[in-house]
Amino acid sequence: MALTKPRFSEAELTSINSQLEQATTRDVLEWVDQTFGDRAAQMSSFGLEDQALFHIYWTINANARLMTLDTLRLPTETYTLFDQTKLRYGVEVEYFYPDLKAVGEMIKERGNNLFYRGVANRKMCCGVRKVEPLGRALSELDAWVTGLRRDQGMDRGSIDIVEWDDAHSNYKVNPLANWSFEQVREFVDENEIPYNELHDRGYPSLGCAPCTRAIEHGEDIRAGRWWWEGDPDAKECGIHIVAPAQR
Ligand code: SF4
Repeated sequence: MALTKPRFSEAELTSINSQLEQATTRDVLEWVDQTFGDRAAQMSSFGLEDQALFHIYWTINANARLMTLDTLRLPTETYTLFDQTKLRYGVEVEYFYPDLKAVGEMIKERGNNLFYRGVANRKMCCGVRKVEPLGRALSELDAWVTGLRRDQGMDRGSIDIVEWDDAHSNYKVNPLANWSFEQVREFVDENEIPYNELHDRGYPSLGCAPCTRAIEHGEDIRAGRWWWEGDPDAKECGIHIVAPAQR
């Protein structure tokens, strides 16, 4: 079970954030480890940010937990990276899969590639393949760690280092909030961290194979996600929704 109520008062959370805002990423992850222990886990998309973040988390705690959502529609390169990461860090990745009955019913009713036929269909697919498994994964945690950065745009510009996640009744921790993409890239290269080879082929943001394309030079980093929808503000799948109070 996740937490039944916030562990910190609003004033305490504000104070924690003002301290961690000045701290290093390593300090933030040490705070996570000391505060939540194995009731915390990184929820990783295995993108570049998440790979950098797990490297630091693992150097603090060699048993740090690493979770991911396998939507069953990921690119082959992402499955290769799952295996490379396990080999490099000796980590047992905790995979969360969609409910196959729900997937079967969705496909029967709307087809395999329903997402190309309207936003409602796309949201349904993300709901079945991502949002529901995420809820299941987070229901056992007091804190989840993400690789979100403020300069990724959209609502992410307003994230705090530590946030109370009302939807999942636990804390969401964003240790890379202040990093730039260039810093992440440099850190990954310096530490020879395994990363998805699609990043070298123009994919800054990775997701399911049918819903992600490479971007052109100068395009927004999220432009390759659900590009056919044509709405630059609709680039979230429901996993990282910022609560109205934080907007
Ligand atoms: S990104 Fe595409 S394939 Fe993946 S869950 Fe969402 S709509 Fe479905």
